[in-house]
Amino acid sequence: MANRLDAFRFNVSEESVAVRKVIRMGHPMLREVARPLSQSDLSSDWIGRLIEDMTDTLHDYGGIGLAAPQIAEPLRLAIIEIAGGPTRYGEIPAVPLTVFINPTIEIVDPAAHGYWEGCLSVPGLRGFVRRPQHIKVRYLDLNGDEFELELQGFLATVFQHEFDHLDGRLYIDRLEDSALLSFEEEFVRYLEPKEVPLAAAAEKEE
Ligand SMILES: [Zn+2]
Repeated sequence: MANRLDAFRFNVSEESVAVRKVIRMGHPMLREVARPLSQSDLSSDWIGRLIEDMTDTLHDYGGIGLAAPQIAEPLRLAIIEIAGGPTRYGEIPAVPLTVFINPTIEIVDPAAHGYWEGCLSVPGLRGFVRRPQHIKVRYLDLNGDEFELELQGFLATVFQHEFDHLDGRLYIDRLEDSALLSFEEEFVRYLEPKEVPLAAAAEKEE
């Protein structure tokens, strides 16, 4: 381990990519409550390398967020990166690659809205999950400085999904109707065309 970290310190370059394996549903580590990072963790040598690995892994798998437990590191750490722009959910604001350490969520408004969620740890599936759409997130950056972020709509859902991983929870735990869990292919063929009316119906249940 020491050798690997030394190698990182002296040889790191733009080209060095370390894609880690994303563990999948069924792996017990996805069900653990991850431990918070301490101040000494933040000043350690391995934390920078871990975040580099997470970034390379996120880019390789093509996701918008990755929590450390998804690469079998049971730590309260997640990264999120969203290109933003027009989507089927309307205009989504961009989130540049950001590291969230020991994040907490405060629900500002419990009014929920549903989206079809996917997860790198539950590949090939989509499920319709309703979550509060107005939250506040508090977290530390790598320097240990505290930040606060207020999020609404689709972004509120993304952050709750990612931070659920830190408590050993997957989106499938939050399905209200198991009929609304689908393989990707069937989702695109049968469910996506009905998505807008479905989301509207779910809202009315409030
Ligand atoms: Zn996930």
